[in-house]
Amino acid sequence: MFDKILIANRGEIALRVIRAAREMGIQSVAVHSTADADAMHVRMADESVCIGPPAGTDSYLSIPAIISACEITGAQAIHPGYGFLSENANFVQIVEDHDITFIGPTAEHIRIMGDKITAKDTMKKLGVPCVPGSDGGVPDLDTARTVAEEIGYPVIIKATAGGGGRGMKLAKTADDLADAFHNARSEGKAAFGNDEVYIEKYLGTPRHIEIQVFGDGKGNAVHLGERDCSLQRRHQKVFEEAPGPAIDAETRAKIGKVCADAVADINYIGAGTIEFLYENGEFYFIEMNTRLQVEHPVTEAIFGVDLVREQIRVAEGLPMSFTQEELELNGHAIEVRINAEKLPNFSPCPGTVTAYHAPGGLGVRMDSALYDGYRIPPYYDSLIGKLIVHGRDRPEALARLNRALGELIVDGIDTTVPLFHALLAEEAVQTGDYNIHWLEKWLETNLE
Ligand code: ADP
Repeated sequence: MFDKILIANRGEIALRVIRAAREMGIQSVAVHSTADADAMHVRMADESVCIGPPAGTDSYLSIPAIISACEITGAQAIHPGYGFLSENANFVQIVEDHDITFIGPTAEHIRIMGDKITAKDTMKKLGVPCVPGSDGGVPDLDTARTVAEEIGYPVIIKATAGGGGRGMKLAKTADDLADAFHNARSEGKAAFGNDEVYIEKYLGTPRHIEIQVFGDGKGNAVHLGERDCSLQRRHQKVFEEAPGPAIDAETRAKIGKVCADAVADINYIGAGTIEFLYENGEFYFIEMNTRLQVEHPVTEAIFGVDLVREQIRVAEGLPMSFTQEELELNGHAIEVRINAEKLPNFSPCPGTVTAYHAPGGLGVRMDSALYDGYRIPPYYDSLIGKLIVHGRDRPEALARLNRALGELIVDGIDTTVPLFHALLAEEAVQTGDYNIHWLEKWLETNLE
């Protein structure tokens, strides 16, 4: 068993991991930049180490600083949270070379899934359904034209190293192809240092459905159903729910088994998410995230499990604490991402939180690192909290979300809370009848 783990992250996710560790009797070490000296994760951890100046590249992304913090404090394992170094195969390799346990998948699995072409190829071989498209990378515009004509327009050109919605360009017709191809390449190169691209059929009205999987690294794996994350802005999720309003038990069991079998086959260890677009009853794999997702709490709510605890257990070589048969889906959960952003443009607005009150009561979870007087630094992601509600069914979860949002107080800064009040009044949100383009269209007409 670990006595002490280090959390290579900040904000709400660092708190999330500290909480799981404490319940397991494990000491926690927080790392922080100079800008985060007063942050909640530093206050809540058992120990903390300053690892550098404010910029992420000099602190939360500094591999030598994080390894040193581990060695100084005697932490035996590192939990990466999400973002930062969580999907950096090189980091995982270095961690292991220092005889520190990485709480997450192997460097090899991260490498395979981090390259979208290799990921798709691997998944296809494992029997997972994929979006029709090019067979691997597309080296030049002529090949792109041939592929696009074969699969039919519209098509989407994607950077193999892309992420966070970047490196993706839509070509509605043959006239757009050259621009889309060159732009996806240059964005891939600029943002990820890799200009390789591939082509996929662009789906017009899909939902974003992702399957939570979990493996023990010894050939055993389970699935924990799906999350519907179709409400997106600029390919970024803002509202997530589980179970998906469009998925029935039979569909869930079927796609869930395909995913669990696939990760069992490769001896995957820890939490993973297999993302699909879902249209006309068909699933199309788009990518796999080899880490804990921001939206993992909705899955925890409906299955009553602690995914971080499981991550720590399997990293210690212990078995998962449940089997597929023991996992029972209960009720409905919704998460909304609360960002320090000013509507209607979603411009980041860091500043001082003059008053903070978290909602509570039955079925309400607020994962946030805010406190009264906290100064939100301008250097990091604008996510300041996640409000998660759980009800016996979807209508109850929606009513609870409405009630909890009404209780939440975040004064002194602008947040995205008004967006959720407005969304809850929409019929499409009330009925769950939306796809990945719904929110963008709604924003165009409702938030100007
Ligand atoms: P990233 O790694 O940048 O998150 P993904 O491949 O996961 O990129 O895609 C993110 C989002 O982009 C999806 O949730 C969906 O909204 C949209 N998208 C991706 N591929 C397609 C496609 N083939 N057709 C339509 N929309 C797509």
